[in-house]
Amino acid sequence: MTQVHQLYQLQETDLEIRDKKQRLGEVLQTLKGPPWLLQARAELDTAVSSLNSLQNQRNTLNLELQSLRSKANSSETRLYSGKVVNTKEMSDLQHEIESLNQRAAGIEDQVLELMLLMEEAETQKNEATAVAAKAEERWQHESVDLEAEKTELAVRLNRLLQRRQEQASVVDAASLREYEQLAKKKGGTAVTRIRVDMCLGCRMTVSANNIKQAREGKKAYCGGCGRIIYPYD
Ligand SMILES: [Zn+2]
Repeated sequence: MTQVHQLYQLQETDLEIRDKKQRLGEVLQTLKGPPWLLQARAELDTAVSSLNSLQNQRNTLNLELQSLRSKANSSETRLYSGKVVNTKEMSDLQHEIESLNQRAAGIEDQVLELMLLMEEAETQKNEATAVAAKAEERWQHESVDLEAEKTELAVRLNRLLQRRQEQASVVDAASLREYEQLAKKKGGTAVTRIRVDMCLGCRMTVSANNIKQAREGKKAYCGGCGRIIYPYD
């Protein structure tokens, strides 16, 4: 096998690696999900966190309520214990109990309002859960082919990268470097085929002498684009 053959085969592998990587990128992007799925997920998230936030508010209020009631209780216990004989202290305790009970009543109202909001939020969460479950099911069904393609692409890429390594290992270092630099400049094709005497890389006519050299197995270049000539079908 001539070196041009080796480089041409390496290029075939590189071009396929490029295509497969690009396709894999597209597949991964698509697998993130269509807009209707992302929307259903986002709405479920919002509904769940709204409900959680209301539950947290209610828990905080309940704790405050417990604390107020416990303070009121202990003040009442003291008031009716028979140990308080001072009129001023009795009157202070009564005021304190009243004030604590008033605050507790206010908080109970807030809790009731929250309960109504929670009922609504619960309903919304249930609806969003049902919509999201349907969307997930539909997507699971629709993404089967893409998942399979993703796996196939990954397996294929793995093989191609191994092949690339094998193919590159038989090319001498200087030629490999030249090929890679040329490929970078020429959109991935460092090696070009010809049709009769036309370079398929740049559509210019390649000199007969260069074609002759290439056919003799020497490294020859297209005068138009500078690519290495691969003079076979
Ligand atoms: Zn050319």
